[in-house]
Amino acid sequence: MPLLAEESPEDGGLGCLEDAAVVVREGRVQWMGLASDLPRQWVSEKRISADGRVVLPGFVDCHSHVVYGGDRVGDFCRRCQGESYEEILSAGGGIHTTVVVTRRASREELFTTASQRLHRMRAFGTTTVEIKSGYGLDLETELKMLEVIRDLSAREPQKIMSTFLGAHVVPREAASMEEYTELLVDKMLPRVHQEGLAQFVDVFCERGAFDLTSTRRIMESARSLGFDLKVHAEQLNRTGGAQLAASLGAVSADHLDWAEQADLHALAAAGTVGVLLPSAALFTGAERYPRAKDFRAAGVTMALATDCNPGSTPAENLGLVATLGCVQLGMTPAESLRAITVEASKALGLQGQVGSVVPGARADLVFLTRDVTDPREIPYRMGISKVDGVILEGRSWCPGSGSVGAGRDAMAKPSMLTAR
Ligand SMILES: [Zn+2]
Repeated sequence: MPLLAEESPEDGGLGCLEDAAVVVREGRVQWMGLASDLPRQWVSEKRISADGRVVLPGFVDCHSHVVYGGDRVGDFCRRCQGESYEEILSAGGGIHTTVVVTRRASREELFTTASQRLHRMRAFGTTTVEIKSGYGLDLETELKMLEVIRDLSAREPQKIMSTFLGAHVVPREAASMEEYTELLVDKMLPRVHQEGLAQFVDVFCERGAFDLTSTRRIMESARSLGFDLKVHAEQLNRTGGAQLAASLGAVSADHLDWAEQADLHALAAAGTVGVLLPSAALFTGAERYPRAKDFRAAGVTMALATDCNPGSTPAENLGLVATLGCVQLGMTPAESLRAITVEASKALGLQGQVGSVVPGARADLVFLTRDVTDPREIPYRMGISKVDGVILEGRSWCPGSGSVGAGRDAMAKPSMLTAR
């Protein structure tokens, strides 16, 4: 069973091993290498045979908004008739629509719908998910969202990372961006910090959301409290968010559709990961996409994520995002696979812990269907899942959506994974 390893030898950067073995202890990878090199002490242990299947590290979705109330089918219809995302947002629709419904929603409703999304993501091979708040825009609802994320982290088998995005847009009841920025800095950030509800703080630095001055104020305040930083930057316009992210040592700058060379050099120098979200660009009819060759030339680490959210992209399938990484951004298939695994882990500060099969990492493994011999089929089979099943933390087996209709060879039942 080939595997995507941390280091990449001469196979287009994939780092595959033929006929490999993985030793798992207490949910972690203990050893990984060629089956013929399996150390003697492990030979008689309980085994799970992949039966010739391709095995990959679990996929890492490093940017999502899966906790929200309602939907935005109405916005979608308006955009299909020619209104732009920005026009709808500035007319009080867009994110504001979701805020109204999310404020009204109970914790249980938010938990249940997000849990359903996580289950579908898992069936597509996603074993780590970053989730942002940002549809509350008041202390009470932001805390409610972050508590739902905490509960998902406790009850779902995926690894969940939590991000406070109180600075998503300025709520309609606020008198000004400046007033809401002060509320964020004085009240909301300290409370989120005190409750220990988020690893990251994110800001939507964009026309109609937060300008550079407010973004800097929020990020500096977050950094002083010990949060790691993320920024939605250069999505719809070039506003300077990417260079600000780099100057403040943000772990990632996300979107970057309008980033210029100087922005990319700043990100590369700072080691800030570029999280690219082509499904959002596609779904909102963007006229411009980031170009992988520019990121490659500048030396920016490229990750891909779904940006799963009710407005600009309800996407849940990271494999499809890998396809878009190739055809819309110009990534190689191997780059796109690394961008949803090992590179995405860096956007969460989890390198070596998820997204690669290395000693010490969580034992999250994706088994592809039996007919797949080359993992680059994931981006190639546009929108078609080839995930037969997923092992999370070396324990729970979850059937993948690719196992549906895969016939008698499908590994749809854990009993087929018993020791031999
Ligand atoms: Zn986003």
